Amino acid sequence: MIPLSCAQIAEAVGGELAGVDPAAIVDGSVERDSRAITAGGLFLAFAGANVDGHDYVPAVTAAGATVSITTRPVDGSPCIVVADVQTAVGELARYVISQLPDLTVIGLTGSQGKTSTKDLIAQLLAPYGSTVAAAGSMNNEIGHPLTSLKADLTTRFLVAEMGARHVGDITYLCRITPPKVGLVLNVGHSHIGEFGSQDAIAAAKGEMIEAVLAGGTAVLNADDPRVAAMAARTSENVVFWGEAPEATVRANGVELDALGRAGFTLELGGEQHAVQLQVVGEHQVANALAAAAAVQAVGLTPAQIAEGLSTATAASKWRMEVTERADGVTIINDAYNANPESMRAALKALVAIGRSRAGQAGAGQAGAGQAGGGRTWAVLGPMGELGDSHTEEHDAIGRLAVRLDVQRLVVVGEGARPIHLGASLEGSWGNESAYVDSFDEALELLRKELQQGDVVLVKASRFVGLDRLATALLEEA
Ligand code: ATP
Ligand code: MG
Repeated sequence: MIPLSCAQIAEAVGGELAGVDPAAIVDGSVERDSRAITAGGLFLAFAGANVDGHDYVPAVTAAGATVSITTRPVDGSPCIVVADVQTAVGELARYVISQLPDLTVIGLTGSQGKTSTKDLIAQLLAPYGSTVAAAGSMNNEIGHPLTSLKADLTTRFLVAEMGARHVGDITYLCRITPPKVGLVLNVGHSHIGEFGSQDAIAAAKGEMIEAVLAGGTAVLNADDPRVAAMAARTSENVVFWGEAPEATVRANGVELDALGRAGFTLELGGEQHAVQLQVVGEHQVANALAAAAAVQAVGLTPAQIAEGLSTATAASKWRMEVTERADGVTIINDAYNANPESMRAALKALVAIGRSRAGQAGAGQAGAGQAGGGRTWAVLGPMGELGDSHTEEHDAIGRLAVRLDVQRLVVVGEGARPIHLGASLEGSWGNESAYVDSFDEALELLRKELQQGDVVLVKASRFVGLDRLATALLEEA
C-alpha cells in the first residue's frame, strides 16, 4: 500500500480516531490475520462466527502495527473505529486506487476460468510492468480490496478477478477498481441457486462492461450469446474472441499434445503466431484468447502475447494438475471446483491424456489399453449450485463419459449419484461405472485397481473436498 497517515485513513473510511496519533504512518501491509502483521502495518478486526478480530488487537499493537480498524475502541491500542470493517476496507482500497493515476486495471469475471485467466494475464503483463494480481481466488468484497491494497506507486497493472453472488456485487467491486479493460469469460451455471436463471447471472456479470472507463475496452466471448450481447452495455471499444465470425482474436488448428496442452495458431491484430500452452486442457484455449485480447488492449504486441502464452504456467493449485506417480499412474487433480462446463472440459482432457499414454505404452489405438493399464478413470463427485437442473446436469455428465469412452467411472457421494445412473442408462459401453458413498471407499477401490499407465481425473465441486482424495492418491506410490 502507499504510505498513509492515520488521519488520511480515517478520512477515507469515515472512521473515528481512538487513541491514535493522527500523523502516525501506515507503511506496512494491510492484514486481517493477526499473525501476518508486521511493523507499520494496518490490522482489520473482522468479527467472524468463531473468532473476533478485536481479541487480537492488543497482540498486533505489540507486534508493531501502526493502527487497527475496529468497530469499538480497544484499550491501549490505536484504533480507527468504523461502523463496518468490510465497508471500511472497500473504501480504503477505493481511496488508494484513486491515488494511483498510472495504474491500469484489468477486471475479469465469468462463471468459470476467472482464476486460470487471471493467472495467464498476470504472467503476460509481468515482464512489461510491475503487476499485482490476487492470490488464488481472492475475488469477493473482502479479498478484492485486500488484493487492490497491494498496489502502490510502482504498480503498472492490477489484474482483478471479480466474483458475483448477487446483482450489484460487480458494480461494487468496480467502484473500488474502475477497469480500463473489462473482460467477461462466460455465463454458466455457477451460483444459479442464488440468481435463479442464467439471464440473471448475465445481468450481474455485465455490470463489469458498464463499468469500463472512458477510452477503455470491453473484451467479450463471441461464442457465448449472453456474453456477446453485453456489447450493448458499453459505448467503449469492444473486442470479441472465440470462434464466431465477429471474433478478431482467434485460435486456429487447435491440437492437444500428449500432456493435454493445447497448441494453436493465434490470430490477432492481423498477425498469426504459433502458441503452445503450458496449462492443461482444451478449455484453456478460451482463457488464453481472452487473456490475449485483454493484454492487447493495454498495448502488448501479438508476438509478445504469443511468447507469453507459451511460457505461462498454472499459478493456482488443484486446477488440472497432472502428476505421474513413481508407479506410472497419472493423477489429474482438478478437484478445485466443478460445474457442467468444466466437467466436460476435464473429461475431454482426460481422454486426450489417456490416449497419448496408451500410445506411449505401445498399446496401439485408443481403447486398446483397457486390458493392462493405460485406462482412463474419472473419479467424480457432485457439482453444487445447480438448483433445479441438478439431476439433469449430473445425468448428462455420466452420459458424456460414456460417449467419450472414459474407461472407468467412480462416482463419489449421494449428490453425484445421477452421474452413475446416467452412465449406466446410456448403454452401449463396454466399461464400468461404480457408485461409492464415501471418499474412503473410493480410495480403497482405486488402491486395488489402479495399474501402471492408468490416468485418473479427480473432480468435484469445492465443498466436497475431493482434493483430499487426489492428495491421498498422490501419496500412494
Ligand atoms: P471460482 O469462481 O471458484 O473463483 P474461477 O472462475 O476462478 O472459479 P478457475 O479456478 O479458473 O475458475 O477454474 C475452475 C474450474 O473450471 C476448474 O476446474 C477448471 O478446470 C475449469 N475451467 C477453467 N476455465 C474454464 C473455461 N474457460 N470453461 C470451462 N471450464 C473452465
Ligand atoms: Mg477463482
